[in-house]
Order: sequence, then C-alpha cells, then structure tokens
Amino acid sequence: MVLELEESSDPTVRNAQVPIRTGRKWQAGPEVAKAIGRLQHQEIVGRVQVGRAGLGWGDSPRLWSKATKRERRAMVVEEVSRANQEQYTIKAVSQGRQGRWTTWEGTLSRPISWADLWKMPQARLSFLLRATYDTLPCPRNLHQWYGQEESCPLCGAPNASLQHLLSSCKIGLTQGRFRWRHDQVLMKLAEILESSRREANSQPIAKQHSVMFVRPGEGKGDTSRRGPRSVLSLARDWSMRADIGKQLQFPREITTTSLRPDIVLWSAVTKSAMLVELTIPWEEGIQAAYERKAAKYADLAAECREAGWSTTIYPVEVGCRGFVGTSTIRLLRDVGLTGAKLRRETKALAEEAEKGSFWLWLRRRDKYWGSRQ
Ligand SMILES: [Zn+2]
Repeated sequence: MVLELEESSDPTVRNAQVPIRTGRKWQAGPEVAKAIGRLQHQEIVGRVQVGRAGLGWGDSPRLWSKATKRERRAMVVEEVSRANQEQYTIKAVSQGRQGRWTTWEGTLSRPISWADLWKMPQARLSFLLRATYDTLPCPRNLHQWYGQEESCPLCGAPNASLQHLLSSCKIGLTQGRFRWRHDQVLMKLAEILESSRREANSQPIAKQHSVMFVRPGEGKGDTSRRGPRSVLSLARDWSMRADIGKQLQFPREITTTSLRPDIVLWSAVTKSAMLVELTIPWEEGIQAAYERKAAKYADLAAECREAGWSTTIYPVEVGCRGFVGTSTIRLLRDVGLTGAKLRRETKALAEEAEKGSFWLWLRRRDKYWGSRQ
C-alpha cells in the first residue's frame, strides 16, 4: 500500500501523505524505505557468489530500475519478509542449543502444511517440534532446568542428551532399539525400490540412445526434453534383495563377501549393481554417516567392478528426527521417482523415522525391550 500511494500517477494521491497504520514496533513506511535501499544496493553490487555454488549460478536477479510497478511491489514484499527471516536465523544461530539445526548439512527442510498440522496427532507434532529444537525433557535439559542430577534411565550415563537417548545409548544399541527403528525405515525404502523395480521390469525395452553428431555451427536441437533418466530403465531383469527378516546373502554371481549392504539391486544382463546402505543418524551427523558408509563399501564396490560389474554405492540417510538427507533424494531420483511421487515417498520415509524415534522416546524409561519369551 505504501508503494501504491507513493508511486501513484495522480499527484493528489501522491502528496496526500496518508498515514498507514501498522503495529507499534513495525512501521511500514521505514521498512519499505529500507527494503528499497537494499534492492537498489543489490543492483549496484550485482551478482555475487552464494554458498558453495559457483559464481554466476542460479537465476539472474531482477533489477529494481528495470522492474514495472507491479514487479516492484512484489520485490519489496519479498525483501521485507526475507529480512524478517534473516532476523529469525540470526537469533537461532545465537541460541546454542535450540539453534543447532542451523549447522545441519545435507538435509532437506520439512515443509508442514496446514493439512498436515490438522491431521497429525498432537503428541507427535509436539515431539517433532521439541525434538528439532532440543527442548524435550531429556536428562540433560532436566538438569539444566531444575538443577537435579539426572541420568539416562537405561545405561545411567549422567546428564544424557536427547542425542544420547535417540542415537548413541549403549544399552539402547545392544537391545536393538536403534536397529528396530532402522528396519522400520528400511522396510519403507525397500517397498519404494521394489515398486520401482517392478515398474522398470515391465517396461518395453528402451532403445539405446544413439550418439548424435552435430555439424559445426549447428545447434544441438532440443536436449531439454530428455530430462533425467532412471538408472533402472537401462535393463529389464532387475533383481532385488533386502536385509529384512532373514540375513541378506550377497548375490554370488557378483562376488563373494561377508559385508551385508541393506539393499542390493542388480541386473545380470547389463552387469550393473546398486548397493544401498541406510543409516538413521542424529541430524548433525548426516555428513559423517555418509562418508563413513561410503568408505566402508568402497572396497566391495571395487571388487565388484573388477569382476566386470558397474557398481554404484548409495549410502543414504534419514535423520532420526525425520529430516531426509539429500543422498536419499539422489537414490530416489536415480530409480525414476519425480515430482509429486518423489515428495510423497520422501515424506513417508521422514515420518517412518520420526515415528520410530517418538516410540523410542516414549519407551525411554522402560528397561525392557523385545519379545517377552
Ligand atoms: Zn543411555
């Protein structure tokens, strides 16, 4: 509205000096002036490098001086909300514990729509929010809030953090609590891969892409139409084994090994294999988990390649509070998931991990785990 009045073509309106009523702390007039200042400054500075992307990566910025009135209004609104968001992030970074999420690497954000909010059971939503910002009554927080000495109900470690309860308690590990949560997510992942595998196997044989030669000076034609192709589309005889229920036997036709990746997908005709290893780490440890698993299977992959199989290792992570690692998206894209289906399955994986953690949290005082026989 400020811009609408200021930039009006009618001088009476322009000079009317209509006061715009907003909150006491936040004044529309000065904020808009600041936003315009930033936009003009941005135009002088030009394009800069953002994050780790190369110089010139991304969309070119819209120029304030060349924008139409309507565009200017949208730019100002966007700039004002961006500045607000920046304030929140600055505050989060300064809060040692609640702001730990600002240091996460390689995770996707989790958009929660209103529809999700209504559907989600209140206890689970509360768990998700408080786990993300680390404000659950775990022993360490209780100690900080009330000053009493608290310890892990399972192993007795003093002032155990939420990270301890959800991903590193020794007793929890030996009792198979984390393994159980891992298998819940693995089952979902195996289900997704299995349906992609069936779909790929039922497709008609794809024509081999012939190499296109281009005369000098001629355009390449339309290459954008091709889009990302599924790795699975190259063969029709995909087999799959998953380490669920009984122990996985690594397919002998590839190589013999004592290692057991979570899922093996292979095609004997094209001699290609995909090894998938799933981890459910604490979000801060997603990068580390990826590198650890990649190193663990590097030798096996080299062996398979020596035996003539083109092999890809996919270490994939779903954080234990339901934040999916970018590595997982890479796998899902490679097996041909896109668009709404990709979003749906990503969400399903996230929820599986988060529900598992919620259950572990609820059972944190229960020393008993497993079957009662
Ligand atoms: Zn413990």
